Amino acid sequence: MSLKRICYDCGHRTTEPVARCVCGEPLWLDTDYGPFDWNDTTDEQGMWRFDALLPVSRPDGLAAAAGGTPLISGTPLDAYAGTNVHLKLEGEHPTGSFKDRGSALGLAAVDAGLVGEVTAVGTVSHGNMAMSTAAYTAAHDCPCVVFVPDDIPPERLAVISQFGPTVVDVAGDYGRLYDITLERGPDHGILFLNSDVPLRVEGQKTTALEICAAFAPAVPDALVMPVSSGGHASGAWKAVRELFDAGAIDEVPELYFVQASACSPVADAYEAGAEDVTRVVADETIAYSIANPDPPSGTRALRAARETGGAAIAVDDDEIRTAQRALAVEAGVTVEPASATALAGTKQLVERGMLDASDEVAVVLTGTGLKEAAASGAVARSDDHVDVDAVEGYLTGFAGTIE
Ligand SMILES: *Cc1c(COP(=O)(O)O)cnc(C)c1O
Ligand SMILES: [Zn+2]
Repeated sequence: MSLKRICYDCGHRTTEPVARCVCGEPLWLDTDYGPFDWNDTTDEQGMWRFDALLPVSRPDGLAAAAGGTPLISGTPLDAYAGTNVHLKLEGEHPTGSFKDRGSALGLAAVDAGLVGEVTAVGTVSHGNMAMSTAAYTAAHDCPCVVFVPDDIPPERLAVISQFGPTVVDVAGDYGRLYDITLERGPDHGILFLNSDVPLRVEGQKTTALEICAAFAPAVPDALVMPVSSGGHASGAWKAVRELFDAGAIDEVPELYFVQASACSPVADAYEAGAEDVTRVVADETIAYSIANPDPPSGTRALRAARETGGAAIAVDDDEIRTAQRALAVEAGVTVEPASATALAGTKQLVERGMLDASDEVAVVLTGTGLKEAAASGAVARSDDHVDVDAVEGYLTGFAGTIE
């Protein structure tokens, strides 16, 4: 079996192993899964219960562990956001982010021989995708090459290199690096699982499949997620289109994409009513995982927001910090700043009247905060110090302050 590809924009189809259409836009896998309803999910674990909607079925090894993340509801964050929020905990993955879904599908396709002879798998990333790709290639006994920017912080490099990939730091334009790897990789049998390539997007569509499955037979009103390259957003759009076409959902949820205001090319284009997303000059933001100033699937994400009746918006670093803290203090959920944008964005959408208090909103928390806390060597501070002999007395005093 060979994989076909289709352009969401111009409809062009190809059997060539390319990531881009002749029109320049990114391609999706061209899949015709036939009829699907919720009874067609299997009892496989994680994302593989949707194997009827995937080009390959569950492999052994680490790839079997991707997906199946919890969705939690009824938290105090409903009051915070002003609507009914359902938190999708993508940080539960083996490497702490939804990127594992795409890495798992990519490696499963390699294992199944769907992508021909592969000498190595590569990626271009400075964070979660590099870590995820490195872990899944290690587990599937496949050589891995990771290109990182040469200004990557050493803590993040350490997190990536623990899995033993070949790490290459690159000086120069990151967008160009992304394109060169996609164009030239196939000549050398290197499968680049970059953020918006068809295989990665196909795996990452399972986030939205799982959310919709959790609501079935009802449909959530909206999904809110951070967007950077647009790979995850494009996967969510593909998922809801496929579910709708198959008749598994009778309405398409609105897709809302959130960016950091310091780097918001998709939100800017949405706001301006533009047709295409173009490169912006970005400032620094704490949401470093979503700081792509020239997103390869930006236009595709923009289209997804418009066609589902959603939007693309921006939140500033203060809103992100406040949301990150609310998640921890009110719901016990640790996320990295990029993920907190989804909750900050939900709150803003309610304030702007774009979401209602009665809506059921799936908030995609894309990555854990644990990695960051560990890597940053965050300074912990205790509130008090006592000798062990004084603990009993301390408890009495402490209990007194609680009442
Ligand atoms: C990669 C990533 C994103 C953005 O996903 P894109 O597919 O690049 O748009 C958001 N949050 C986290 C934690 C990520 O790792
Ligand atoms: Zn095209």
